Amino acid sequence: MKNKDKFVALTFDDGPSYNRAGDIINILESNKTKATFFVLGERINKKTSEIVNKIHKAGHELGNHSWSHRKLTSLSSEEQLQELEKTNVAIKNATEQNVKWFRPPYGCHNDNLIENTNRLNMCSILWTVDSLDWQGDKSEILVERVLSNVHNGAIILFHDHDNKSNTVEALSQIIEILKKSGYKLVTLSEWEERVCDVVKARNVSIKGE
Ligand SMILES: [Zn+2]
Repeated sequence: MKNKDKFVALTFDDGPSYNRAGDIINILESNKTKATFFVLGERINKKTSEIVNKIHKAGHELGNHSWSHRKLTSLSSEEQLQELEKTNVAIKNATEQNVKWFRPPYGCHNDNLIENTNRLNMCSILWTVDSLDWQGDKSEILVERVLSNVHNGAIILFHDHDNKSNTVEALSQIIEILKKSGYKLVTLSEWEERVCDVVKARNVSIKGE
């Protein structure tokens, strides 16, 4: 695979945060890089809906991370639907866009939840590289953890938290090294297109053999 074909998707869960989102957006912008933010419906209020809109206007993608961050597998089907729908409405009110991606809190999913996600024309998506940034590790540890696990097509999980995490401190360095290694950093929709292209190219070459 040629260097220009390498890509990864950065994703930020649990926002919108009051204090960190702005820093994350600025770092992404100064690196001409796009990402995907999985926000919680209950965190979207008058003030943070401006942040959600800013994320959207900057060309990043918004995803649904549920309303309340409860473990949705322990809720009834109707409650699951409410968690999804209410959050979609909150995101749409802020951005005027429909939401395609859903990331279940804690990565917990079951058939029922996947069915409900599909019913709303959404796709459920997890991650392949976990920064574990919520643990509060030093930024050097985050950089090392992400870069030692990264692979072509990776979906990297960070958090947009107003807490002790060093995500903002680690982010510039991670992006810089990924770019130097030839990775393009893309939104999940672009990630999906590229994954489809890889699959199509493989099918063509298998048929051509
Ligand atoms: Zn989460």
